[in-house]
Amino acid sequence: MSIETLVENPTIPAESAPVMSGVFDRANFDDCVMTTYGRFPLALERGEGCRVWDTDGREYLDFVAGIATCTLGHAHPALVETVTRQIKTLHHVSNLYYIPVQGELAKWLVEHSCADRVFFCNSGAEANEGAIKLARKYAHTVLGIKEPVILTAHASFHGRTLATITATGQPKYQKNFDPLMPGFDYVPYNDIEAVKNAIADLDTGDQRVCAILMEALQGEGGVRPGDVEYFQQLRQICDETGILLIMDEVQVGMGRSGKFWGYENLGIEPDIFTSAKGLGGGIPIGATLCKKFCAVFGPGDHASTYGGNPFACAVSLTVCQTLERENILQNVQERGEQLRAGLRAIASKYPNLIAEVRGWGLIDGMELKADIELTSADVVKAAMAEGLLLVPAGPKVLRFVPPLIVTEREIDLALQALGRALSSAVA
Ligand code: PLP
Repeated sequence: MSIETLVENPTIPAESAPVMSGVFDRANFDDCVMTTYGRFPLALERGEGCRVWDTDGREYLDFVAGIATCTLGHAHPALVETVTRQIKTLHHVSNLYYIPVQGELAKWLVEHSCADRVFFCNSGAEANEGAIKLARKYAHTVLGIKEPVILTAHASFHGRTLATITATGQPKYQKNFDPLMPGFDYVPYNDIEAVKNAIADLDTGDQRVCAILMEALQGEGGVRPGDVEYFQQLRQICDETGILLIMDEVQVGMGRSGKFWGYENLGIEPDIFTSAKGLGGGIPIGATLCKKFCAVFGPGDHASTYGGNPFACAVSLTVCQTLERENILQNVQERGEQLRAGLRAIASKYPNLIAEVRGWGLIDGMELKADIELTSADVVKAAMAEGLLLVPAGPKVLRFVPPLIVTEREIDLALQALGRALSSAVA
């Protein structure tokens, strides 16, 4: 087929489509794919809105959304349109050249956040790597710190690269991967005295704290919202000392909390923040964003071949504009309240089983009592049998992170399925 024919009729010729058997071969999968994930025994092949279907045609309500990622759900018409248009036009060229849609997405993000500058990459870990590098360069070149330290929180999660597992305050993610990166230390979350003490203890000789990296709400660490007073004091400490405040918005940002950014719930602005997951609605993209005064990267300091390519940026811009045009944040707030009220009603029926319901917008958690045998994974399995997909946030917390377009009826159905799942799990 000639180039001209393809351009005139850019549908995929049948002979060019990938050869797939259409049959799920679990033995082959287990043989060939590295076993880095403890997968549930479910193979998904299709989705629409907040629903997905497995290879046997069974339907599930998807309250996982690719782990807080599919902002607009599955097969959203606006995404289908953008993906189709962009792949037919231009999908990747590299940052050797100007990419107009990258500039448009950066403008949207700057206009809808406290940031002035954006660096694009492909994932949350990569966005945090960018933030860590930015803070270190600022420390060396502006603050004159020879041995900069970044403070993070216990139970935090910042990714799986070497720097971000070091930043992650959970030893289980670091085990067997030492030596870890130097230049990190940890404090309990929501404890301002601990921060003050750590800064005083760590500031010795050439070593000084240059940045504090925190999640506005700890997602993987158990859906724990940040405390307003704590974050305001943190902001004040940073203002007084010149320490940079970095917020990891990878899971809680892009509307999931009911506001565009998690930090808006805390009444503060970070100096640097990171985004990924919901930013692309399921297409890989990440971003490191910062205020002008700390935008110290120059040419050659940082890069990513795929970062900010036309395809990912066009999809992300569609996600951003759809969130705004369709006033989806209001849906997040209303559905979030409905969900938490329903979860609390369920919790009141099981006082010996459920310790707490908490969250913001559509990132909500239900914590099981510590002294019972039942784990979050047990309930996730029971919910799956009832047609509801959930994801644990640690051994005792169930996480609810549906697409932000979830409807009132779907929340009701999910609560009914959870009620059935809990009664079968304790039977
Ligand atoms: N930061 C936070 C708060 C996250 O929740 C995650 C992933 O769960 C990451 C960073 C890492 O993102 P990614 O898996 O895209 O690298």
